[in-house]
Amino acid sequence: MFSVSHLQSSCTKSASPTKFSSLSISFHARRFNLHLPRIHFLSDPRRGGGLRIRNVDAALPNDYKTKLSHLPSSFAKLKVGIIGFGNYGQFLAKTLVRQGHTVLAHSRSNYSQIAANLGVSFFYDPNDLCEEHPEVILLCTSILSTESVLRSLPLQRLKRSTLFVDVLSVKEFPRSLLLQILPPDFDILCTHPMFGPESGKNGWSGLPFVYDKVRIGEHEIRVNRCENFIEVFRREGCRMVQMSCAEHDRHAAGSQFITHMMGRVLEKLKLEDTPINTKGYESLLNLVENTARDSFELFYGLFLYNKNVMEQLERMDLAFEMVKKQLFGHLHGLLRSQLFDGSEMEVRMEEERKLLSDGSQNGHVFASFSDSKNVERN
Ligand code: NAP
Repeated sequence: MFSVSHLQSSCTKSASPTKFSSLSISFHARRFNLHLPRIHFLSDPRRGGGLRIRNVDAALPNDYKTKLSHLPSSFAKLKVGIIGFGNYGQFLAKTLVRQGHTVLAHSRSNYSQIAANLGVSFFYDPNDLCEEHPEVILLCTSILSTESVLRSLPLQRLKRSTLFVDVLSVKEFPRSLLLQILPPDFDILCTHPMFGPESGKNGWSGLPFVYDKVRIGEHEIRVNRCENFIEVFRREGCRMVQMSCAEHDRHAAGSQFITHMMGRVLEKLKLEDTPINTKGYESLLNLVENTARDSFELFYGLFLYNKNVMEQLERMDLAFEMVKKQLFGHLHGLLRSQLFDGSEMEVRMEEERKLLSDGSQNGHVFASFSDSKNVERN
């Protein structure tokens, strides 16, 4: 912790009392990342030329933090630094700018022209962005690069208390990473806007926004800053879902990953528009459209960084096999009854059907079913 006495002793070492200046104070304040009120040192003739200190900012209603804590949350403007200005960073920036927030961005690639068109200030060097002291750092990096990007950020250049928000499509991973890397004075909000440039192109109304306030300081300013950020999505009409990161990942493995997986599989089939598209087929085409445009890196990140996904992948494999076996099982039975035409056959087919329906509940159907076929072949 930094104290006023620390500041005073630093100042007295570097300057004699009569040479105190607002310059030396602000130098020390910056060095220790302090947010001091502006102080004027006046020579006071009534005290034989001694110093009189006047705090000129304390009562000023224009102070930014005062404004932030008194305005209704829906009106408070934030300074948001986006790290990772690819597909998704740009998508979010458009709404932030439209709502009147100040948006800064940094990315590995040079997006200065795109940023300028969107009304965003682009910084090639993360040091420069951090020295602008955004209230919020919004991590929009790929899941796979997040750790290296986070470790390379000059955190010491940010305000001592900054709100970090991530939008990664997996949640337990960034939660533990942020808790591990960020200094304790930084706040952490893990979010997942569950829509993208395609599904959210006509507005975000009704689309789910999942968030978990992982670590938010108790001070009013910090609470309000977090609420003001969440408000960005509430104002757009998102369906707000407060949920733990672990719970998010459990649900997402069974819904979002399966959606992406099916989209990728269908894309491999190169489905085409036909003159007789059914509603169901249209929704498959939409699924491909919605998922295949996302980077493979994003898809791979969903797979690698959600521990629940492997189980879902195995269930999908099994389900595919089950459905195929059901179809072929019926076909097999039909052919045999045509070939052998007998009541003995009917009885065996009924037994197999029973095995199939019992087994589909306990997962052993395939062993039993193929065993019975092998017996018959022998
Ligand atoms: P992405 O491929 O997941 O991420 C692209 C971003 O990551 C770009 O800003 C890219 O920077 C940066 N990046 C990649 N590798 C990097 C590296 N080695 N070093 C530094 N930066 C690197 O695609 P995205 O769609 O933009 O997604 C960004 C984040 O948003 C992801 O975490 C994703 O899970 C999340 N998200 C996406 C969607 C969606 O619909 N797309 C929805 C919700 C959440 P450069 O462009 O500068 O190379």
